[in-house]
Amino acid sequence: MIGFTLSEEQEALRARVREFAEKEMKPKAREYDENGTYCMDVMRSAFEQKIMNDSIPKIYGGPGHSNLESAIITEELGAACMGMGTSIMANSLALAPIILFGNDAQKEKYLRWHTREFRIAAFCLTEREAGSDASAAKTVALREGDEYVINGAKCFTTNGGYADLFVVFASTAPSKGPLGMSAFIVEKSMGVEVGKAENKMGQRASNQTEMHFKNVRVPAENIIGREGHGFKVAMGTLDRTRAGTAAGAVGIARRALEEAVAYANTRIQFGAPLTKQQAIQFKLADMATKVEAARLLTWQAAWLADNNIRQSKESAMAKCFAGDIAMQVTTEAVQILGGNGYSKEYPVEKLMRDAKLMQIYEGTQEIQRLVIAREVAKAR
Ligand SMILES: Cc1cc2nc3c(=O)[nH]c(=O)nc-3n(C[C@H](O)[C@H](O)[C@H](O)COP(=O)(O)OP(=O)(O)OC[C@H]3O[C@@H](n4cnc5c(N)ncnc54)[C@H](O)[C@@H]3O)c2cc1C
Repeated sequence: MIGFTLSEEQEALRARVREFAEKEMKPKAREYDENGTYCMDVMRSAFEQKIMNDSIPKIYGGPGHSNLESAIITEELGAACMGMGTSIMANSLALAPIILFGNDAQKEKYLRWHTREFRIAAFCLTEREAGSDASAAKTVALREGDEYVINGAKCFTTNGGYADLFVVFASTAPSKGPLGMSAFIVEKSMGVEVGKAENKMGQRASNQTEMHFKNVRVPAENIIGREGHGFKVAMGTLDRTRAGTAAGAVGIARRALEEAVAYANTRIQFGAPLTKQQAIQFKLADMATKVEAARLLTWQAAWLADNNIRQSKESAMAKCFAGDIAMQVTTEAVQILGGNGYSKEYPVEKLMRDAKLMQIYEGTQEIQRLVIAREVAKAR
């Protein structure tokens, strides 16, 4: 059965998060962007209102939202400020390997950490020499008795400067390539050091840092799954979280469309509002169609995940399409606002800068197309 309407509970969730985004995120978005201020206060409030850590199951004290509900939440965050949205959702990304692949003891300990009190988590996969090719990671975790000793460095770790829990991907058998990678739950207090922070083009309310691991000793019980399982954990996690990234991109694009419509309705040139010019009408029509199409792909990917149906292709399609249309729609919004679109007095230039990241993180658009092409080639 196919349905395109949300349930009453989902509508209520959307209204609640939209109110949070309007009241607590939007008013701070410009200042935090200009100053590169990490949105700790917004995250704390999102935690208190159970908007953060949304996918932690109810049995561990979380809201237990479905993937579709997470997508609804993230669209609203993206429409207000995706820098803040990324910071909030990075917690979910970091906790997803524990939710999806962790054992009961790990869930009981670390998911409850995050529902009992406000804590920040980070996902450490990327390294300077291992970005799209995550399997080339050089960080190692070598077993010594009841511990693993981690050595190496990660980069672009979202929330890295503020997190006290890290899910770290490191090789337990360096000669085996991706088959030697394992995933670990690492507490900051085990000796994790924060390195240089990135100074970014957009999403400046979020924080990305290098992370250094120098003889960090982690109890053997903190391995997620088993040795050599790490690449599967990383890829399985990203398959699940990509619909959320797509939803953030939909939110950015929707906001850009709203800003462009509002401006074009009131801006008079040649004696009429811009919306009376067919060239502008066609732009708005294309923008609106792209937003709807991206949302449908996103909800489809989330729905498949909720129904435990394999969705590597669909989540890659959603992330790829939504990221691309966010860039296109925000660029058109800048064009429709003309000179004002290029000015920081109006929000669309920030939306355009924020949109660019949606084509890069959680797997670039090129990598999504490789995933889609591989799946399409199979289906004959
Ligand atoms: C703001 C921000 C936040 C991030 N947050 C996190 C985080 O929390 N945790 C984390 O682990 N990582 C994070 N990342 C890292 C991000 O996932 C990587 O930047 C991304 O996967 C790309 O890797 P790279 O930057 O090394 O680019 P590269 O892999 O060097 O790619 C450069 C270019 O080459 C293309 N390319 C590479 N290989 C191929 C190929 N086989 N075929 C075609 N094209 C190819 C890429 O698509 C890209 O256009 C973040 C990055 C940013 C910018």
